[in-house]
Amino acid sequence: MKKGILERLDAGEVVIGDGGYVIALERRGYVKAGHWTPEAAVEHPEAVRQIHREFLRAGANVIQTFTFYSSDDKLELSGNVTNITGQQINEAACDLAREVANEGNALVAGGVSQTPLYKDSSSESEVKAIFKKQLDVFVKNNVDFLIVEYFEHVAEAEWAVQVLKTSGKPVAATLCISPEGDIDGVSPGDCAVRLVKAGAQIVGINCHLDPLTCVRTVKLMKEGLEAAKLKAHLMVQPLGFHTPECNHTGYLSLPEFPFALESRAMTRWDMQKYAREAYRVGIRYIGGCCGFEPYHIRALAEELAPERGFLPPASDKHDMWGKSLELHSKPWVRARAQRGFWENLLPASGRPKCPSMATPEDSTAT
Ligand SMILES: [Zn+2]
Repeated sequence: MKKGILERLDAGEVVIGDGGYVIALERRGYVKAGHWTPEAAVEHPEAVRQIHREFLRAGANVIQTFTFYSSDDKLELSGNVTNITGQQINEAACDLAREVANEGNALVAGGVSQTPLYKDSSSESEVKAIFKKQLDVFVKNNVDFLIVEYFEHVAEAEWAVQVLKTSGKPVAATLCISPEGDIDGVSPGDCAVRLVKAGAQIVGINCHLDPLTCVRTVKLMKEGLEAAKLKAHLMVQPLGFHTPECNHTGYLSLPEFPFALESRAMTRWDMQKYAREAYRVGIRYIGGCCGFEPYHIRALAEELAPERGFLPPASDKHDMWGKSLELHSKPWVRARAQRGFWENLLPASGRPKCPSMATPEDSTAT
């Protein structure tokens, strides 16, 4: 029997999450940008299975179902050109996640995300019915726990938590918000309190902003919970991109989103700094979202290997801090086989005319 998510976190274990799927699969030709819907779970299961497997090998302890935006209202908004239903996607995604998770000691998390319907109608019963439909598939397939993720409005996330907790399974809830708070101006601390009161046992932040900004927001959530004398585990799954100039809406407001983000990619050493900082502030569920590739997840597992006591399988082909370069034929490359070199490197972009930062769009425009 695998230990459940709450057993692991209650025991003080570090749980490494997986990385982002939609951006990674868009780049590989399996997801359409703008729509960001996960039909690939049905159309190209081999592609989804492979990326699950790479995250597992990199050290992920959780495999999330590839069900981002897989509600019928979102599929219809995107034209549903394939006629594949949300139900079919959710079923296929559960099978794929379970198959791969069982190849290691990983748990399957069924995920729901924000709905277009919330912005259109804000009808509590209709929005909750969407989450219930997804939940029914997750329960039927016996996922290990549930994740409410990528919500800009804490009010909608509360509804999702309320629905998912009826299953009796543990519920994690992460918002895609900045240290300023959610889109309605609710502070991170108040958001955390509301999510825990709604029934979430794990709360935090995902997507939209770079790792250290997301860690800062989770820290504000932690302080809010402490002030309210509430207890919950903390979680963070940030972007794998640098977003120093971003405003409230995060990387969506950058001109590089979504087709020219490469120059903003984080290095594996950036990820080690992130993992260390997240651990230092008390976050124990540490993963990634858009922009996280398997080697980024491996960097988290390697940085926290002293606490966890083991390295992931993908580290068989990777020495931390470039030690394997000692065998390189060129002396100047051999000289890079040391921590100090990579830790202090300021990577050049190689783009002579590029600014270091962009001007984000006005985040108040709708
Ligand atoms: Zn994301």
